[in-house]
Amino acid sequence: MTDPRTYIPASDALADRVILITGASDGIGKAVAVAAAAHGARVILHGRNIKRLEAAYDEIVALNQRRPSILPLDLEKAGPAEYDALYAAIETEFGRLDALLHNAGMLGDRAPIEHLDVPKWMRTMHVNVTAPFLLTQRCLPLLRKSTDGSIVFTSSGVVPKPRAYWGAYLPSKWASEGLMRMLADELESERIRVNSLDPGKVKTNMRYQAYPAEDRSTLPEPESIVAPYLFLLGTAGKGISGQAFDCQ
Ligand code: NDP
Repeated sequence: MTDPRTYIPASDALADRVILITGASDGIGKAVAVAAAAHGARVILHGRNIKRLEAAYDEIVALNQRRPSILPLDLEKAGPAEYDALYAAIETEFGRLDALLHNAGMLGDRAPIEHLDVPKWMRTMHVNVTAPFLLTQRCLPLLRKSTDGSIVFTSSGVVPKPRAYWGAYLPSKWASEGLMRMLADELESERIRVNSLDPGKVKTNMRYQAYPAEDRSTLPEPESIVAPYLFLLGTAGKGISGQAFDCQ
């Protein structure tokens, strides 16, 4: 099997793949969205901040590739009506979904357990675990219409190396990894594969929130780690399911 980190996609490797990317307004999600569109994908940009979503949209339009769609949704607040509307919008515009990247995430508080704010704990768990569950549940009928459906969860270094003071973020990433493995097993007999990617250290706002004192000049840019995402979101990863990969 190709190592996803060394994958070099052909210019049309993702041609016509309909791909929903959560958290595509910033950081890693935005870089993956731009790269997927540059390789022919029809990208659905999800996020919360409209201005940032429009900036990602403009970047893709400037590539002279397929125009992306914008799907604003606050994952903290979305309920059944919003997920139904999201389903209807994708169904009407595309009729199917080929890939779903659960990338949006929330860091929450980094503090000793006695100091963790309970509502913030719950919001972090909701955005990082419950929202990907709800979105997956609503998108499954659309993924079933693909000949090669792919769901990708976003992992973190705190999964292989659990450590102190990571608040709700660490258990949320463990739960997300568990959800990935459970879903991969559930969908084993279907044409939908489920995997996770750990991006490693990447120069983004979330990384800055987690490590404010760090020398940012040493960190890789989000654009430099997108190859494994393209591997799993595109057809190159066909047949691979239930696995956790590193981007670096
Ligand atoms: P950024 O802070 O750059 O981007 C986070 C994205 O998530 C934004 O697009 C943001 O949208 C979106 N988002 C956050 N909360 C919500 C919400 N409530 N509703 C909708 N969208 C939301 O982070 P990264 O690019 O660094 O992180 C991407 C993923 O990678 C995360 O899952 C993170 O845990 C993971 N990761 C990152 C690492 C790193 O070093 N950077 C290391 C390991 C894992 P908006 O801008 O519209 O608010």
